[in-house]
Amino acid sequence: MIRKNIKIIALCALVILTVCVALILRTLRHESTYETSFFAMDTFMSVKATGHNPKASVEAVRDAIMALDNDLSVTNPESIVYRLNETGACVADDDLIFLLNKSAEARELSNGAFNISVYPIMKEWGFTGNEFKVPEEAVLNDLCKALSVAEISYTNSGEPVKLSEGTMIDFGGIAKGYASKIAGDIFAGHKIKSALINLGGNVYAIGKKPDGSLWNVAVNSPDETHKYLGILSLSDKAVITSGGYERYFEKEGVIYHHIIDPSTGYPARSGAQSVTIVSDDPTLADALSTALFVMGLDGAAELWRSNSALFDFIFYDDKGNLFITEGVKDVFSSDIAFEVIQK
Ligand code: AMP
Ligand code: MG
Repeated sequence: MIRKNIKIIALCALVILTVCVALILRTLRHESTYETSFFAMDTFMSVKATGHNPKASVEAVRDAIMALDNDLSVTNPESIVYRLNETGACVADDDLIFLLNKSAEARELSNGAFNISVYPIMKEWGFTGNEFKVPEEAVLNDLCKALSVAEISYTNSGEPVKLSEGTMIDFGGIAKGYASKIAGDIFAGHKIKSALINLGGNVYAIGKKPDGSLWNVAVNSPDETHKYLGILSLSDKAVITSGGYERYFEKEGVIYHHIIDPSTGYPARSGAQSVTIVSDDPTLADALSTALFVMGLDGAAELWRSNSALFDFIFYDDKGNLFITEGVKDVFSSDIAFEVIQK
């Protein structure tokens, strides 16, 4: 008993000592923490970093995300994407090429569940101007046919991007992930090793907390029953969630949400309430969160089994069941019972 107590006291002392050493080192290195919040991409964002002169890096991140928002907006007549959709052509920049490549990768991985060319369908449902309506089935069928032959041709930055007749694109399902990636690049350029990027609940945890421990990231809950679905303890990972609850309208008692199944033209009814992706790659994580929401649990599990090095997921279904993949089982804790999906 006495030995057990001594062990506990020694352990506590070690933890306190580690934290003190981390704090002393931080002071000696002239490190401090800076945090800012702002509104972009239709959501509240907060970015914080610890290191030498973190203010400059955090402000550079904020400015970059605001600029990206302007470039990618489908409604701002000044944006590159707006111009591309209106005229069918524009000159590519690095952001556009990266996003087109990553979107193509996600489309291929998900067998078409992720498709940036769903934009005409989003528009038809009124998700663009918030003038919601349930389109005629025949109109959706025609739009799905057009989507199946939509083409985006491009080569490199500085060269033209061209859309086939009737094609329009929207990076809404991937833009926040890419914004996180850009933030990560800026922090790396400023030699910031500890930062937390929270873009409306989509989190990219860089390095570890300033005291050297892992970041604790809450997984968003889509319903009122739970404040959050669980906590992930991790470093250098993006945690990105998609859910129908994030944007929807109700008509005659039916809920219509903003994640479209490209094979039907209707909001995906895959049995998902929310899907969270955990990955080293924030851009891919964002695209896959949307894709897996469309694919449903079986499709998500199948995709994960052949790509488990790329991502893990947390799937909350519409009956309140929680599933997580094997790769996050040791870093996820929850009050809710969950099933672990094995390879
Ligand atoms: P997220 O919250 O990341 O799942 O993104 C949802 C947004 O992605 C929507 O508001 C649309 O702008 C866009 N979107 C909807 N359905 C799809 C889809 N099947 N593939 C790609 N983007 C989509
Ligand atoms: Mg997404």
